[in-house]
Amino acid sequence: MNLVVCVKAVPDPKEICKIKIDPATKTLTRCDVPLVINPLDRNALEAALQIKESSGALITVISMGPPPAENIVKECMALGADRGILLSDRAFGGADAFATAFTLAGGIRKAGDFDLVLCGMASSDGATEWVGPQIATFLNIPAVTMVNGIEDRQGGTWWVRADWQNGYRRVEVRLPALLTVTRELNRPRALSFSGILKARKKVIEQWGMDALGIPGERLGIKGSPTLVSEMTTIQARRDVEILHGTPEEKADRLIAKLVEAGVL
Ligand SMILES: Cc1cc2nc3c(=O)[nH]c(=O)nc-3n(C[C@H](O)[C@H](O)[C@H](O)COP(=O)(O)OP(=O)(O)OC[C@H]3O[C@@H](n4cnc5c(N)ncnc54)[C@H](O)[C@@H]3O)c2cc1C
Repeated sequence: MNLVVCVKAVPDPKEICKIKIDPATKTLTRCDVPLVINPLDRNALEAALQIKESSGALITVISMGPPPAENIVKECMALGADRGILLSDRAFGGADAFATAFTLAGGIRKAGDFDLVLCGMASSDGATEWVGPQIATFLNIPAVTMVNGIEDRQGGTWWVRADWQNGYRRVEVRLPALLTVTRELNRPRALSFSGILKARKKVIEQWGMDALGIPGERLGIKGSPTLVSEMTTIQARRDVEILHGTPEEKADRLIAKLVEAGVL
């Protein structure tokens, strides 16, 4: 079985305060922020590793990002992925979700036959939740989003459980297909020293625009139907008022204020 896991390099959420908006390009400057594996993509990779352990599979990790994203592909190899592909090229820069999905679909097709593509439901930075379903559209395969359980598999037919309003839906899907996963699906394993040692010998394939054979006007900011026209950071401001008096007086004042504000 051939499994493909899409893994995005995202700014480390612990250092998010270092991210700035470039007023000229209206894009985020995140060069001083270390890149980490998008949290939900760890769940997608863990799902692939468990399938591999239970029924054998070849896991290919694919990521589109700047050259430093190579480190997160390497980390996925240390966790147990068999093959690592980084799609990196200046031509991919500034891509919106549509262009990102189109490029990743091109990379998945070039990587060869696949039975299942696994994505996180959302990234921790853009969080549009669009890339997974759009990849499936470009690959012309079915997609099930927000998967929180793989219930049964019989050959090429799978039954999965997925979020649905206050409950869940049970979906039957035929492979090849794409699943986007939630954090409820599993508990990602930690890196092991032996895994890190094994990964040191593994080679990461790097593909740019020429290797994908996709014309530049379909990639990056040129291939993006959406353009961020303005990005503003909102300074959260809170008016604070200290209520004085006995607890009863303070409670009365608070209720009066809440009524005044139309909250009560
Ligand atoms: C604040 C902000 C707002 C944005 N708003 C928009 C917008 O409104 N419209 C728009 O089109 N774009 C928008 N973008 C750009 C968009 O985030 C990027 O194009 C991004 O690369 C892809 O979208 P995402 O992060 O939202 O992915 P999501 O759809 O949230 O990611 C879902 C999954 O897709 C896979 N994936 C996503 N990106 C990659 C990658 N580079 N490599 C490998 N796998 C990947 C991962 O498995 C991930 O878990 C925004 C970006 C930011 C930072």
